[in-house]
Amino acid sequence: MPSATSIFDVVVVGAGAAGLFAAHAAAAAGSRVLVLEKNRKIGVKILISGGSRCNVTHDCSFREVAAAFGHAERFLLSALGQLTPQMVVELIERLGVSTYVEAHTGKVFPVSDRALDVRDALHRRAVEAGAEFLCHCPLREMTKSEGLFQLVTDRQTFTARSVILTSGGLSYPGCGTTGDGYAWARHFGHQIVTPHPALTPLVSPAAWVHQLSGIALEDTVVTALGPHNVRLGSARTATLFTHFGLSGPAPMDVSRFVTLPAAEQATRVAIDLLPQISSGELVALWREHAQRNGKQILGNLPTGGLPGRLVEQVFAAHGATPQRRLAEVSKAEWESARQAIKECRVEISGTRGYEKAEVTAGGVELSEVNSRTLESRREPGLFFAGEILDLDGPIGGYNFQAAFSTGDLAGLSAARYARSQIAAAPD
Ligand SMILES: Cc1cc2nc3c(=O)[nH]c(=O)nc-3n(C[C@H](O)[C@H](O)[C@H](O)COP(=O)(O)OP(=O)(O)OC[C@H]3O[C@@H](n4cnc5c(N)ncnc54)[C@H](O)[C@@H]3O)c2cc1C
Repeated sequence: MPSATSIFDVVVVGAGAAGLFAAHAAAAAGSRVLVLEKNRKIGVKILISGGSRCNVTHDCSFREVAAAFGHAERFLLSALGQLTPQMVVELIERLGVSTYVEAHTGKVFPVSDRALDVRDALHRRAVEAGAEFLCHCPLREMTKSEGLFQLVTDRQTFTARSVILTSGGLSYPGCGTTGDGYAWARHFGHQIVTPHPALTPLVSPAAWVHQLSGIALEDTVVTALGPHNVRLGSARTATLFTHFGLSGPAPMDVSRFVTLPAAEQATRVAIDLLPQISSGELVALWREHAQRNGKQILGNLPTGGLPGRLVEQVFAAHGATPQRRLAEVSKAEWESARQAIKECRVEISGTRGYEKAEVTAGGVELSEVNSRTLESRREPGLFFAGEILDLDGPIGGYNFQAAFSTGDLAGLSAARYARSQIAAAPD
């Protein structure tokens, strides 16, 4: 047990993806570092990530990672530029975990497909740099007096020159992430952008969607539609039909628009089931087919290998009768059929919420944090990294990359801050 009377240079709150990088960076820079973790285990979310394979980062430039974070793009550039996806891959390989890039998706995984290898390597690295870890020791309260932070736990109260909050958001609360850090950030004068679940499956009331449960499409474009059919955002990747609605990376990527406040939120999505071909090409293909095969039925039109069960259901749901002979299809019905494939409308009544959300959108307001150091603009010596901040990226390794890069930068900055405090202290 670390001595309660001594002062830590840096206390990191939360041993997740960001906390492990922050702890290593601060300890490697010469700071005395303590990491407080609520769970009995370190890095629980790393362990369950990517279906326990851990998609560590994305095979792209740091600027592309930043761009994937929308409003947080500019904020992230400093951190991502200092620890790029390529540097993360090199680092993990140096730690003995070989990686590979998944074809077609650009996702980077350990060759072993074992998240445990990544978690263990990052933990070992931080311990070898000198960071001390205390598990099953949640931070309960944090105050500051005479330039020093007091961190109250059930075991003892710790004193620190600087604190890095890496306690995550509200998603997967069973992993220990119950939004604890927001209260401490508020206590020190920060605004919290209202958190809402992101990267979570979509719930649909449409029975025809439930009937398609089990159908998975590798390449789709899912667009979230807000009030007055405004296009709020879209994602091109896989979609899975389930007994409750839609899952898979594309629907999950647009879920952040479904969990917005009621007046702004998406209440349906439009799915392009065949993005490899344009609307014009599809209609021309169908017209030609119909001219030669007038006795065939709508349900048997060429639809790029989409499952027949799916085509029948989406046609029927959009007002095109699958059994209609092609020679008898009206202009309006042709348009319904086209819409069914290229802009398939699915009513959305909600999401699976934080319980199934891979990340939390919202969090500590970015304008109140210095993006070059990740230090609070409200309280000197207080730093933030990872999902506690108002940033959320798409599926594909982007979120770990952001957590790693911000953790690393916050660790270096906190160590620098602690050194400056020691240098300024009277003898
Ligand atoms: C099922 C699932 C799969 C995912 N897969 C991927 C993937 O493959 N690739 C990817 O890029 N992203 C993935 N993510 C997202 C990724 O896990 C997060 O973006 C990332 O973990 C955020 O890192 P963080 O360090 O900010 O927070 P976290 O990793 O959530 O860590 C926060 C830590 O703080 C601790 N804590 C909370 N409160 C306290 C307290 N009071 N005192 C002490 N400690 C506290 C928590 O116990 C936790 O260990 C996935 C998420 C989930 C839920």
